Order: sequence, then structure tokens, then C-alpha cells
Amino acid sequence: MRLTVAAIVSVIIIGVFVATRSHHYFDSFAASRPTISDTGRAPEFATGTWINSEPLTLASLNGKVVVIEFWTFGCYNCRNTLPFVKAWHERYASKGLTVVGVHSPELADEEKIENVRTEVASLGIRYPVVTDNDYATWKAFGVRAWPTIFILDKTGKIRWTHVGEGAYDEAEQQIQKLLNEGNKQENGMSEKIKKTEDEWRKELTPEQYTVLRQAGTERAFTGAYWDNHEKGTYYCAACGLKLFSSDTKFDSGTGWPSFYAPASEASVDREVDESLGMDRTEVRCHRCGSHLGHVFDDGPRPTGLRYCMNSAALKFVKE
Ligand SMILES: [Zn+2]
Repeated sequence: MRLTVAAIVSVIIIGVFVATRSHHYFDSFAASRPTISDTGRAPEFATGTWINSEPLTLASLNGKVVVIEFWTFGCYNCRNTLPFVKAWHERYASKGLTVVGVHSPELADEEKIENVRTEVASLGIRYPVVTDNDYATWKAFGVRAWPTIFILDKTGKIRWTHVGEGAYDEAEQQIQKLLNEGNKQENGMSEKIKKTEDEWRKELTPEQYTVLRQAGTERAFTGAYWDNHEKGTYYCAACGLKLFSSDTKFDSGTGWPSFYAPASEASVDREVDESLGMDRTEVRCHRCGSHLGHVFDDGPRPTGLRYCMNSAALKFVKE
């Protein structure tokens, strides 16, 4: 009996030891209370220096799933989480995820912006990082230890949080779940348009049919819109759903009309496309399921995305 108790106690001691090694506390803030409101809405980012991005606000990220990691470059627990956080950014940025690193320093060295810039670059961090030298964001989120991760849904509510290393699979499942949430309710688009291929073939031109229904790609520099600079709106050529605004169109040099964001996150669906031996993300019209093009993560600011569309999949209406 005594042996069993001793065994249990040692397991507990080892457990606590291992658990506390996965993060570390900032004692002076141990008593700070979260100021998160009842709705669970995350507080805004406080003022800081932004690296890898223009200043972001959570308000402007409405419609996106957001991962926020509180970290500091000298913390080895934080460094251990970085491969996972960077992988989430790489895998899901084109699917509606924004990762933000809030850099709340522990030591004086970690407060210097030039040091943070150097570390962010050498650690290969490509997502936005904001400095939090006065701990305003740290306190607003009620953080007590490095690293702490928050995952926000598309409405800005905190849906998942974790202190310390680990739980990476759970975090990734949460990201996937939240990315799929709310895709159907927005903008009255719950009603899908379903037609037989015969019906589509009758309604569309042969070129439109090849692109929209057979996931074809028109030849570069041949479409109607790659060089269109007029102000207006681009609609789905199959069902008329509003897809893109000329406000987010840019010259990509590819010969296909390119946009850095859709008119609404809910108007397009993204699916992994491994055809032709490539790992691409296909973009489809949310309402009728027609193929529009692909999205890549080499676009301009503010999203860093390039929606590479086929002119034949779009119908432009001048403003
Ligand atoms: Zn459509």
C-alpha cells in the first residue's frame, strides 16, 4: 500500500515537473485577471511595432480564423512551438487563417525592436508579429505564461486556448473546424444551385463549360479580363453570385485576372487540388460549385494571397 502511494506521488511530482517545463510564468502578472468579455470576444491588439505586415486589427480580420501566440524569442518553450505555428500558417493562410505572434518580452534584450526583427527573420517566421513591450495586449488577454495560444473563430470569439507546449493536433483540428464554420449561413447563400451537366452545357458557352464544369484553364493572356482595369464587380459566369470587386484586383503579370481577396469569404470555397502532380488550392463558387481558378500564397498585401481566376469563369459588370 505504502509503495502504491509512493508510486502515485512520484508520478504526480514527475507530471507537475514535466508540465511546468512546457511553459514558464511571469510572476508579476500571476494575479492579473482576464478582461475578456462575457461574449468571449477577444480584446483588440494594443499598439506595437508590426513585423511582416501592416498594422492589423481584429476588427479588420472579421471573417478570418485567427491564431494568436504570445511568445518571446528567448523562451525555449516558445521556440519549440514555432515549427507547428509556422506549419499552420503555411497550410491554412490561403484557406482563411491569419496567424499573429504577439511578442511580449521577458528580458531587456527582447524589448529591442532590432533584435526582434533579426530573430523573426532567422527563425523563418513569415506571419505577422507585433511587439508588446508594455504588456498591454498580454494583460488584456489575461496571459500568464509563455507560450500561450488563442484560437479565434470568424466572429472574433475566443474558442480555444492553450498554455505551454503541446496539444498541437488538437489545435490543428480546432483550426480546421473553425475554418469550415459559417461558410453556409452568410449572405443568404445557404441555397445552393444544382443543375445537371446537360443543363449547364446548354446554358454556358463551350469555353465557359470547359473551365467552370470541367476545371479547365484558359490560356494565359487570352481571356477578357486579365488586362481589365475598369471599376466594377466580377460575378460567377455560371450562377451570377458576386465573387470579386475591382478594388482587390492587381496586375500579377500571369495573364489571368488576379485578386488578393474575394468580395466575401463566404462566396468562394477552397479545396485541395492534387491533380497534375501539384499541391494547389482550387477555388470554386460557393453557390453553384463551379471551378473558378486557384489561390496561391504569393500575392500582395494586405492578404498575401493571389486568387488566380479564369476570365471565362467570370462576368464583369462595370460600375
Ligand atoms: Zn456560381
